[in-house]
Amino acid sequence: MQKLTDQAPEFIRAIAPYKAGKPVSDVVRELGLDPNTVVKLASNENPLGLGEKAKAAIAQAAADLGRYPDANGFSLKAKLANRHGVGSDQITLGNGSNDVLELAAKAFLTQGRNAVFSQYAFAVYPLATQGCGAQSKVVPAVCYTHDLDGFLKTIDANTRVVFIANPNNPTGTFLPQDKLLAFLKQVPKQVLVVLDEAYNEFLQPQDQYDSTQWVGQFPNLLVSRSFSKAYGLAGLRVGYAVSSVEVADLMNRVRQPFNVNSLALAAAEAAVDDHEFLKQTYDVNLHGLEQIQAGLKALNLEYVPSYGNFVLFKAGAGADAGMKVFDALQRLGVIVRPVNGYGLPEWLRVSIGLPHENDAFLKALPIALATLQAS
Ligand SMILES: *Cc1c(COP(=O)(O)O)cnc(C)c1O
Repeated sequence: MQKLTDQAPEFIRAIAPYKAGKPVSDVVRELGLDPNTVVKLASNENPLGLGEKAKAAIAQAAADLGRYPDANGFSLKAKLANRHGVGSDQITLGNGSNDVLELAAKAFLTQGRNAVFSQYAFAVYPLATQGCGAQSKVVPAVCYTHDLDGFLKTIDANTRVVFIANPNNPTGTFLPQDKLLAFLKQVPKQVLVVLDEAYNEFLQPQDQYDSTQWVGQFPNLLVSRSFSKAYGLAGLRVGYAVSSVEVADLMNRVRQPFNVNSLALAAAEAAVDDHEFLKQTYDVNLHGLEQIQAGLKALNLEYVPSYGNFVLFKAGAGADAGMKVFDALQRLGVIVRPVNGYGLPEWLRVSIGLPHENDAFLKALPIALATLQAS
């Protein structure tokens, strides 16, 4: 007799589960560390936490948790539509932008179709693709960044979705707007281009561009944004997409009716207007990026110059260099992110923290690196 689990489709059984950054509580328990000194720089969270406006909105919304959330997120959508100069019917809200990425996959992918994305791209793209029974076509990266010409060559008659993270996680690389526009002009119209801008708010003024303005010109473009990173609402799970009305309508059909909870809706609405908190976040990140990149340079470590709130750096040579340095750092109370799951076993990703957290990382790093030489 066949096992029950054998009845799940082969493409479901073949999924490799997402490996999240370790919660501080796990590390504290496993290694017997002092929770007050542990520094978590593993998940690209906002080191400032969340803003006061969002906090106040959450407290207020908490009183009404006996009710279901607004299934259409009317008021948050209206605010986002106004901000981007698009219609509310062009906004799709998600339980994190992760949800939005999956809705796009669900709306367009199925068995026999494929999605195209880069080597070293965000881990959710293969998961979302495979969850629909579709095939992933991975384009080799060039200098750790997306090779858009390679994308064009890889797209075939069965391609329905292209995923591009800009800036990209985990590499921190960035494609300027002229490259994206040239790409959009050449992509076949039956292919949805998902432009994942989870780190957009960290871009410096000279790199900023507003791709949501391109949706009118390119009906096959979907731009996704997140409240988890710069807005500091990672624990609440809220993100959104800007797309054509037609694409938004399709995604609306495949989402859960109440996919964004009441606290998330209220907090996101307050966070959108908290320009002061966003500015503070930006400044902390810019200084932290300089601090960490200068520290890595001083240690003669190779790193990929970052446009996000994290840096990918080479921990050493050899297939277990990343994990070894990760383990050693963890024993010293600093949690970073292994990226062997991305095919980068010699590298680690460190998120930008507060100045003293970055310091703690840079102090622990040479000690952790010494364990490589010792072994
Ligand atoms: C963190 C991240 C996201 C999404 O995060 P959510 O918390 O689901 O909004 C999306 N794309 C990339 C590239 C990310 O790094």
